[in-house]
Amino acid sequence: MQAELIAVGSELLWYGRPDRNGDWLAEQLLRAGVPLRGRHLVEDDPDAIGAVVREALGRGGLVIVSGGLGPTEDDRTREGLARALEVELERDRAMLRELRGRFAAKGWRFSETHARMAERPAGAGWLDNPIGGAPGIVWRDRRRWLVALPGVPAELQAMYTAHVAPALGEAAGPQVLLRRRFRMAGLSESVVDSRLQELSLPSDVGVTVLAGAGLVDVLLLVREGEPARARQRLAALGEKLAAAFGEHLYGVDEETLARAVGRLLSERSWRLATAESCTGGLLGAVLTEVPGASRWYRGGWVLYADELKERLAGVDANLLREAGAVSAPVAECLACEARARLEADVGVGITGIAGPTGGSPAKPVGLVYVAVADAAGIETHEHRFSGDRAAVRERAVHAALDGLRRRMQRSP
Ligand code: ATP
Ligand code: MG
Repeated sequence: MQAELIAVGSELLWYGRPDRNGDWLAEQLLRAGVPLRGRHLVEDDPDAIGAVVREALGRGGLVIVSGGLGPTEDDRTREGLARALEVELERDRAMLRELRGRFAAKGWRFSETHARMAERPAGAGWLDNPIGGAPGIVWRDRRRWLVALPGVPAELQAMYTAHVAPALGEAAGPQVLLRRRFRMAGLSESVVDSRLQELSLPSDVGVTVLAGAGLVDVLLLVREGEPARARQRLAALGEKLAAAFGEHLYGVDEETLARAVGRLLSERSWRLATAESCTGGLLGAVLTEVPGASRWYRGGWVLYADELKERLAGVDANLLREAGAVSAPVAECLACEARARLEADVGVGITGIAGPTGGSPAKPVGLVYVAVADAAGIETHEHRFSGDRAAVRERAVHAALDGLRRRMQRSP
């Protein structure tokens, strides 16, 4: 069995409100081993809702609609469902009595607008809402299963858990979906993509490539009859990827570059200090996001003015004049002096031109030098990043973290 999700609400279309219910339901379906065929957003309009639901039902399987079941004028899901099923909306007297009773018990006033919540498409059933006012709606035949749940996340989650999840286990049959995110740095999306092609992974493995700010994630999804087999399969695929991507692969799932750096520093009992110019402290911010960073991060300088580079990091005034603040020797000096003056085992220096102004033909916007200094020496890389100011700064932070990570990995 496959599933489709339909989120109802004009705010999801026009005002950028994220479909968190859809995210949550997708996660539940994955855990239940039910492949998700599609997710749709639709405005609060009965015709629009009816059309999307009808099409999804036409493809068969489970269709979960969320939102628009409340009592207000803009809650039009009930009418939409009736149009999709091509039946009338009926007012259910028993539900009406129950809602009146519940409202009375809480001392709330029950009005004609609330009575709309007792309407359902002819032939459909109710799903009890243990938390809020609006009941859910269910309709089923041999190959189609339609469920409508309220939009309030707590209600949706409680009702999915009570009414859908238990029945899903039987309907889905014995299958497991498992996914893993393989995280890479220092490769472009197209290089990752072509290496994946060369691996010719089996066609039943779902492969998704996600790229941004110099990092690339490869998501693999496997489908198996039982959990042990699925885990085995992911482990074998992981080995293949590790062999193909080598040191570019920095972690899986929730691992971040900063966490990987923290782990490597901890293993060596090393402490890190930073001297940042164009990134303005972003590197320090990302490092200190990692819980327990105080064990391996000493701290750092933000040295934006050349005068401060001279005064705090002891960068030579002649060097700044001759090579320029954005240069390999200045990055090296920043890394060495951060390491020495801030009493760390390893120092990182970053200097560059984030733009949009300040570039020249010789030193264009996006030119960034990153240096890493430790007891064994200094390693410096010149980068030429594209993108706007925010992108250049973010890429510079990732390049610094990755430079540090790879230097430590190469010299265990
Ligand atoms: P109510 O009885 O509260 O009117 P409803 O079923 O009519 O419930 P909506 O009116 O669509 O649902 O949404 C109610 C609230 O639930 C919204 O204000 C929003 O906070 C939340 N909500 C709705 N849809 C989503 C969604 N897709 N993701 C996250 N939150 C949502
Ligand atoms: Mg509503």
